[in-house]
Amino acid sequence: MRKPVMAGNWKMYKSAGETSSFFEKFAPLVASATHAEVVICPTFVNIPAAVEAARSTAIGIGAQDVFWLKEGAYTGEVSAPMLASAGCRWVIIGHSERRQYFGETEETVFKKTVAALEAGLNPIVCVGERLEERESNATEAVCGAQFAGGVGGLTPAQFARIVIAYEPVWAIGTGKTATPEMAAAAHKFLRGEVRRQFGADSAASCRILYGGSVKPDNVKGLMAQPEIDGALVGGASLDPTSFASIVNF
Ligand code: PEP
Repeated sequence: MRKPVMAGNWKMYKSAGETSSFFEKFAPLVASATHAEVVICPTFVNIPAAVEAARSTAIGIGAQDVFWLKEGAYTGEVSAPMLASAGCRWVIIGHSERRQYFGETEETVFKKTVAALEAGLNPIVCVGERLEERESNATEAVCGAQFAGGVGGLTPAQFARIVIAYEPVWAIGTGKTATPEMAAAAHKFLRGEVRRQFGADSAASCRILYGGSVKPDNVKGLMAQPEIDGALVGGASLDPTSFASIVNF
């Protein structure tokens, strides 16, 4: 049985005060949600406020990015041990916005994933195709290359600790969701890649989340697909009621 992961990616939204108010409303709404692991990923600076607010709950806190070295003269970067010592348990790696605006590549995704694992964090590694890639039937080629370059070099023991998020870029923040069937087909392809690279047991246990305009009114259909093991949610995770109804799908 794969326990779903319902993760919120807050992107560059919310102040420290707004972070604390969110948790006051959200925590009671998901207090009995033992069917899923619930994760919130605020901005770096609001991680301490989130960790504090989530202290007596089962909600895990994650970062939205990480650097691959432990420390050094890398102005503006934050390392995996620093995130772990701040109370993070999770980290999103390779989000399409990092790939699009900040030069994230398969190579940096791999290095960040290894660094996160070494620090004891659970990486959520994102893959997904752009609209023109889907329209030119390159979805599997693109996702396959991102998978192979980003996590294909992990050892089976390392791979067992990661979560994959399939996020078609054309569905992120656009209100256009992949249909449950489209998402399930991509997940099936990715699970096949896991099987090819890491074997049948890894394929059976690997959690693959869907991300891209997940909302309270479409989450049920997506989660009804046996291939879909949770959601990575951007916009709809900013509102406590809306994210709670996604978690409690
Ligand atoms: C995301 O940021 O990972 C995401 C899926 O965003 P949204 O839910 O807003 O499409």
